[in-house]
Amino acid sequence: MRQFARVHSPILEPNLKGATLDRRDKLIQQQQHDPYFSRIHKQDPATCKHCGVHFSKGHFAWAGGKHSNAVLMECPACQRIRDGYEGGLLTISGGFARAHRAEILNLISNTEKLEKQQRPLERIIDINKGKAMEVTTTYEHLARRLGKALSRAYKGDLQMTYPKGEKYIRISWSRES
Ligand SMILES: [Zn+2]
Repeated sequence: MRQFARVHSPILEPNLKGATLDRRDKLIQQQQHDPYFSRIHKQDPATCKHCGVHFSKGHFAWAGGKHSNAVLMECPACQRIRDGYEGGLLTISGGFARAHRAEILNLISNTEKLEKQQRPLERIIDINKGKAMEVTTTYEHLARRLGKALSRAYKGDLQMTYPKGEKYIRISWSRES
């Protein structure tokens, strides 16, 4: 008799469990899966020497001002940007997308700004403006939000896939005419 060890993707597990957790618990759970977070969690409180995000009691926030007892560190988002280690990839293609490139880039930029206010580590790493535009993000949440923003604004075809065994999301949005 054939044995089926696992029928579900391990990547989806944290999300399913997350449904019963509050926001803070979810955040901590996400951070435990992030190799960049585990490098800095012992430095608390700490402030990123590049972007100024403040880390206190296990939580990242745009606190502003000076924190006399905080050590300087490089936050997981700045490390990921430096390494080009993306958590999400959004591909934008089609004739409509090419014809409305400036408008689309504007929507992407505004969506990132809003997202970053709430979740300081969610940032765009790079935008490759080839025939099909490619946007890489530090974490999967921002890539998903960008894809949904495009779909809401311009309809088109939105697809999301979690490559098996990898901790990131691949999204494609396309509109031809
Ligand atoms: Zn930083």
